[in-house]
Amino acid sequence: MSELFKRRFSRRHILTTAGLGAISATAIGSIGEEVAAQEPTQQATPRGGPLPPQIEFPPISASTEVETGGPPTALPPERRLGFAIVGLGRLSLEEIMPAFAESKLAKPTALVSGDAAKANQVAQQYGIKPQNVYNYQNYDNLRNNPDVDVIYIVLPNSMHREYTVRGAKAGKHILCEKPMATTVEDCQQMIDACKNANRKLMIAYRCQYEPHHRAMIQMIRSKELGAIKVIQADNGQNQGGDLNQWRLKRALAGGGSLPDVGVYCLNATRYLTGEEPIAISAQTFSTPGDPRFKEVEESVTFQLRFPSGILAICSTSYGFHEARRFRVFGSDAWGQLDPAFAYNGLRMMISRKSPTNSMAENVSEVRMSQKNQFALEIDHMADCVIQNKQPHTPGEEGLQDQKLITLIYEAAQTGKTITLPRVSGLDVTRGPAPRMLK
Ligand code: NAD
Repeated sequence: MSELFKRRFSRRHILTTAGLGAISATAIGSIGEEVAAQEPTQQATPRGGPLPPQIEFPPISASTEVETGGPPTALPPERRLGFAIVGLGRLSLEEIMPAFAESKLAKPTALVSGDAAKANQVAQQYGIKPQNVYNYQNYDNLRNNPDVDVIYIVLPNSMHREYTVRGAKAGKHILCEKPMATTVEDCQQMIDACKNANRKLMIAYRCQYEPHHRAMIQMIRSKELGAIKVIQADNGQNQGGDLNQWRLKRALAGGGSLPDVGVYCLNATRYLTGEEPIAISAQTFSTPGDPRFKEVEESVTFQLRFPSGILAICSTSYGFHEARRFRVFGSDAWGQLDPAFAYNGLRMMISRKSPTNSMAENVSEVRMSQKNQFALEIDHMADCVIQNKQPHTPGEEGLQDQKLITLIYEAAQTGKTITLPRVSGLDVTRGPAPRMLK
């Protein structure tokens, strides 16, 4: 591996070269201006402020070895932003609550659930005050709680709009799970509500904060793989269990595999290229008689064409065995993450002609330390509030995916290729690249 390549993927380099895109106004609309001034929030103690200095150790390994990055630094608890978690389902309890242990800027300070016994148990487990446990009826009372700066919405998809709008009206910043909502209109209402309340809105696209994904974006944008020709992305799992689960109900989920897991493929093609598609074609299929797919689709394949000529081929399914990967085919090399969309265990492979043996292909693995994606995303939201910055994945990012999901269904239904106006500029729906914290 060349010295340049090694340096490019040294940990320090990845942490410091995350920034790439600029925001520009386009036909699909530019993201909102940074909020000029924050209303003072009633807080028991002032939040935020600078991180304490990193504790340094003298080096113990040669310059040929990968750097460890040193010990993390974090805000003391009383200066961290307080998060209220809304909806205590699998994602909240299995991933999000544990992720706060790795957060550097945030702490869980309130819970909102329809199940008081469960919420009280979780509150005890995480040291959350009993008076900071809410239900869906008294949720709006969060307005009077100075322990809460940000509301993290982890409810079924069609409920995201209502709880975002109510949360913004209660004066809190909003971090909302993907998919942003189930209709374009709902997404727009969420953006408007946060804008009117002068609050920040971020969609929890965790992969966009993860080092392997950031490194792949960097490789593509710096032409490490040559000119990108094709991106192939697949994300799905065999969805089983309870036939009454909300994911199989159109009214709650908005669709089947496409908005739930296919959105990762769609979003990846957009953040890897930075471009917006100009043509969409698609097909859907559900196995006849399968009781899981009475209301929502099983499988979707879709193809996108981007202004630079890059083509994307994506598949998603609730019927195939778990696969969560993408491969980017460039003129000089290909790069892949497999898995790409899993919570952990991400692996990056690069394949190119050997620089020392013209008869050989070098297939190499680029290893980076695994980070908790939820902690990274939560800290980005907290960082944006503290620094008064636009989130990297604001409401406009979720809105654009929702618009494209709607068009993918339309293309599948009509069997026609849908063309879209060309959007100039890169990363037009994104805020500044995330600052990676030590
Ligand atoms: P889940 O079914 O495990 O939890 C949903 C929670 O909402 C439960 O606590 C449930 O009681 C509550 N709820 C309130 N009203 C409800 C209603 N009318 N019907 C059903 N449940 C209701 O779901 P989950 O897997 O935690 O997903 C929640 C959200 O998180 C979804 O938007 C999903 O797309 C998203 N998600 C994101 C990721 C990711 O990697 N970012 C992973 C999984 C889920």
